[in-house]
Amino acid sequence: MDNSPLSLFAHTHASYSSLMEKRLGYGRHHAGFLYKEWMRKGTCGGSDPAFANAGDLLCSLLEQSDFSHPELIQTQSGGEASKFLLKASDGLEMESVMIAMKTSGTLCISSQVGCRMGCAFCETGRMGLLRNLTAAEIVSQVFVARHRLNFDFNSIVFMGMGEPLDNYEEVMQAIRILADPQGLGFGVRRLTVSTSGCVDKIYRLMDEELVPNLAVSVNAPRDDVRMKLMPVNRQYNMEDLYRVMDEYGQRTGREILVEYVLIKDKTDALSDADDLALYLRGLNVRVNLIPYNSQSKHPFTTPDDSVIEAFFQRMRSHGYLTFLRRSKGQKVMAACGQLGNRELRKSFLINKSPC
Ligand code: SF4
Repeated sequence: MDNSPLSLFAHTHASYSSLMEKRLGYGRHHAGFLYKEWMRKGTCGGSDPAFANAGDLLCSLLEQSDFSHPELIQTQSGGEASKFLLKASDGLEMESVMIAMKTSGTLCISSQVGCRMGCAFCETGRMGLLRNLTAAEIVSQVFVARHRLNFDFNSIVFMGMGEPLDNYEEVMQAIRILADPQGLGFGVRRLTVSTSGCVDKIYRLMDEELVPNLAVSVNAPRDDVRMKLMPVNRQYNMEDLYRVMDEYGQRTGREILVEYVLIKDKTDALSDADDLALYLRGLNVRVNLIPYNSQSKHPFTTPDDSVIEAFFQRMRSHGYLTFLRRSKGQKVMAACGQLGNRELRKSFLINKSPC
């Protein structure tokens, strides 16, 4: 039997307790208690009265448990959005963004280091995929935000680095752990998975026991435009995407968040708004407009404010619930599709040869 310590971040309450019981031959109840304390309070419950008589059992549980999370190496504040970096044991960094809202905040987490989807406007996409994050690494981002940085948030979005559905198994395991009422306790309705449009995985997602909210980066009004911006469109075109969004909405009864990046002279014309409105007709959606955040080497630019406003008003006039997301993370490179530590990318490109 493998006797290496069990990482709490890789387990639900039930799996951790039962594995501990198997290892020790007893102690399920105390293991469960330890798990709950650690996930909810961020400290070890060893001094709790419930452990007063646990004695050797507690020592064994502590010895066999791994409470460590990736090292917090940097926090960067940019007003309402702050970014933090965790360093994995192999040296790769994962980025998360804390977005403070009036009532409570949102935590944006990463599912991969880099991304292989290659969206033309995306800083992370330019890194390529370095690797998938494990469920424990995904959960660690939430634990650190809550218990080490004391960030107050009530929703979690998989909108950081990576395409979550390209790392399906680990993301699903992370969702099970995050949603465990005996642990961190985030209901699935407070978890949103954002995808560039991996249609086959969206079908799979709606069959899961725990079904999160869905956000889809549509980003274009028509196939001809989307084909140029998002390579995934060659595999699943906008009609495929429409069908899966329709089914997801019907089966879950939930609204889908449609994300649309406004890029000057590419996706920002009023006729684009009309085409987008036509495309979305019949779906239960809310539309988030995200003005492109200009980056040094990208060929794209941000539309003028007046153009952004006109697009926004046009979508509203078509009857869509539309929001304009002025990028709260702009100052710290934490806006959508713009995560991806520049220094990390530089060193990776210098130090490693392409696969
Ligand atoms: S926008 Fe999302 S899916 Fe596309 S390359 Fe960037 S991180 Fe990947």
